[in-house]
Amino acid sequence: MSQPAKTNLLALSIPEARESLRAFFAARGEPAYRVGQTLTRLWARPVSAFADITELPEALRDALASAFELPRLELAARQRSTDGTEKFLFRLADGQAIETVAIPDGSRMTFCISSQAGCALQCAFCATGAMGFARNLGLHEIAGQVRELALLDPPIKATNIVFMGMGEPLMNWPAVDATLTVLNSPEGFGIGARHITVSTVGVLPGIVALSQRPEQFRLAISIHAPNDGLRHTLMPINTKYPLAEVIAAARDFDRRVTFEYVMLGDVNDTPMHARELAELARACGAFVNLIPLHPGGAGAFTPTPARRIREFAGQLERHRVEVAVRKSRGTDISAACGQLRVERLRRRAPSTV
Ligand code: SAH
Repeated sequence: MSQPAKTNLLALSIPEARESLRAFFAARGEPAYRVGQTLTRLWARPVSAFADITELPEALRDALASAFELPRLELAARQRSTDGTEKFLFRLADGQAIETVAIPDGSRMTFCISSQAGCALQCAFCATGAMGFARNLGLHEIAGQVRELALLDPPIKATNIVFMGMGEPLMNWPAVDATLTVLNSPEGFGIGARHITVSTVGVLPGIVALSQRPEQFRLAISIHAPNDGLRHTLMPINTKYPLAEVIAAARDFDRRVTFEYVMLGDVNDTPMHARELAELARACGAFVNLIPLHPGGAGAFTPTPARRIREFAGQLERHRVEVAVRKSRGTDISAACGQLRVERLRRRAPSTV
């Protein structure tokens, strides 16, 4: 007799998982509190297997394990930077590989998580874009990255999340939507919405969907060029979602947005670009994050020198735009978007400084 397929509890939204567990325990005449006991063990205080839910009687743990599964992501590589940044490569059930980066900063621990295997957008400087799109990740694979780091010994727990790993989160909205709930809800990881940032090239329907969530999730928009001509050459998606529409969406977003602007030597870093960028930022009240180019991305770009980045920041400030220069982290472990996976595929040793 063939076994009925097990339900992947980690692929269910929290309300769906609660309902599945409620039906499961009710059918066995178990008290309702078993639902909560089990639900907190999915994400909030995760276990690697049902057998580890020691607060449940053994027979119930066995029964759960025959009805449900809690699939793990296989840790294929782990690298630690001299600055404490750690990068993880996870192998998925179908062989796809994705990356997660954990960035400590004082009392903060920011996880940079992936939302797709590969990416379809082909931004000219991005290593993930160069590898092409494989598939969307499911809830259990996106939130699963946070769960896996919490299962390490010792555990690594996130205080902040940025969707700045591989992929375009707003092109995988249903799974990202469910992940936001798992990250934020007290039955999930309980991370404050203001500490969770979705980063996008400007996928307009996704920005609208994010703005309709009642929680104060943050939105970062990868601008990278202050006019359509240049942006089109760096980010082909600009044809579909041109700057004027992206800026209008940022203005309509009910919380303050951040612009990400990767500094590309002699490409987008002149005083004229600063003026144009300031105008866009002021049109929608955006905060600007200047990002030093991470070496090892794609294309033949050179990083803007640190002094020029500071001048560029000063030019924005003179136009009354708030700006910060992002610290480059994990450069010795290629911690920029897509780089660990690219290294593995090329089968060369991780670079060291
Ligand atoms: N698709 C989303 C999120 C993933 S990338 C987005 O584009 O916003 C997260 C950020 O890293 C983006 O701003 C992206 O442009 C930037 N990035 C990609 N490659 C980089 C590199 N080599 N150096 C610096 N930033 C890079």
